[in-house]
Amino acid sequence: MSGQPSTVSEFPEWPQYGDEERTGLIRALEQGQWWRMGGSEVDSFEREFGDYHGSPHALAVTNGTHALEVALEVLGVGPGTEVIVPAFTFISSSLAAQRLGAVAVPVDVDLDTYCVDPAAVEAAITPRTKVIMPVHMAGQFADMDALDKLAADAGVALLQDAAHAHGAQWRGRRAGALGSVAAFSFQNGKLMTAGEGGAVVFPDEELRERAFLVHSCGRPRTDREYLHSTTGSNYRMSEFTAAVLRAQLPRLDEQIALREQRWPLLSSLLAEIPGVVPQATDPRTDRNPHYMAMFRIPGIGIERRRAVVDALIARGVPAFVAFRAIYRCEGFWMADASDESVEVIAARCPNTEQIHSDCVWLHHRTLLGTEQQMHEIAAVLADVLAG
Ligand SMILES: *Cc1c(COP(=O)(O)O)cnc(C)c1O
Repeated sequence: MSGQPSTVSEFPEWPQYGDEERTGLIRALEQGQWWRMGGSEVDSFEREFGDYHGSPHALAVTNGTHALEVALEVLGVGPGTEVIVPAFTFISSSLAAQRLGAVAVPVDVDLDTYCVDPAAVEAAITPRTKVIMPVHMAGQFADMDALDKLAADAGVALLQDAAHAHGAQWRGRRAGALGSVAAFSFQNGKLMTAGEGGAVVFPDEELRERAFLVHSCGRPRTDREYLHSTTGSNYRMSEFTAAVLRAQLPRLDEQIALREQRWPLLSSLLAEIPGVVPQATDPRTDRNPHYMAMFRIPGIGIERRRAVVDALIARGVPAFVAFRAIYRCEGFWMADASDESVEVIAARCPNTEQIHSDCVWLHHRTLLGTEQQMHEIAAVLADVLAG
């Protein structure tokens, strides 16, 4: 023993790119038309991304937050409606609903998978509920069987926040083949990226057509007379973004395969560390792209967790404090929020309360590292926690 704290060797960089992205950008440039109405990159990307996810009805948009907004809008969300969201998620899940004037209703998540708890969803359904929005946390599907049934029985729509679930499969089917709408993000850290970008995959062309109007200022595609047949905004993806994403898509399979090899090893090593509990996997998610390597340190508390994350970063592990409970963000209450209080929501979200203060995640590029690096991560974490 040298007495020096060990550090982990460099992980692969993120984002990754090569000649395919370069060629794509030049191809988009040389079309001489840089928006989707003049070029062909966005159209091609929609076909390719949709096909990959099991539905030919994809719509590319500006980012993942807007993907949720457009999807919610065509599903009828607006003032006077409610959208059920997990209390533990990135804020866009609730923000998108609130932006449309709806009330976002946070419900508790499962303590092991960090995905929305179907029983909590069921208890939150009211006559105003329009949409149930599960988040496939870190690539692990929420219980789609239970949620599908709940949504069908209640006559409400299901919108998958699939911002972490590119290429993920639930019992052999990808997000676009599950019969509900799915929204994706291509922000810089996501599993495929052009810095920013988003997509919505629809189960049918009718919904997709309505979303097309919404995403283009309400204007029919072939319109030359400024008809603006419906309301909306400009959520159009640029040709450059689409060209990069077309090059990113074929990288997914290999990266997913590698992360699927690494996570079982890393999670078993993490589970051996006293006090560490890795995110559980539901075997019905039979392909998991592993957007994050997540684990809990039950009872650690917010202060000590921050110190642990800082120590991990200092020793070469790209670690992050996990999402805050959305109802513990000030912004959540500045919108047309529910008439419940923080205390009332917290009391019915005991699992979220724990995860809120004890969950840590590692960037997915760690899972593109070597087997040796999985051992190094676990050794560093054990050391940090012992210190
Ligand atoms: C990243 C993310 C979004 C939003 O995507 P952006 O492209 O950053 O707007 C939505 N939901 C979840 C769960 C996310 O992680």
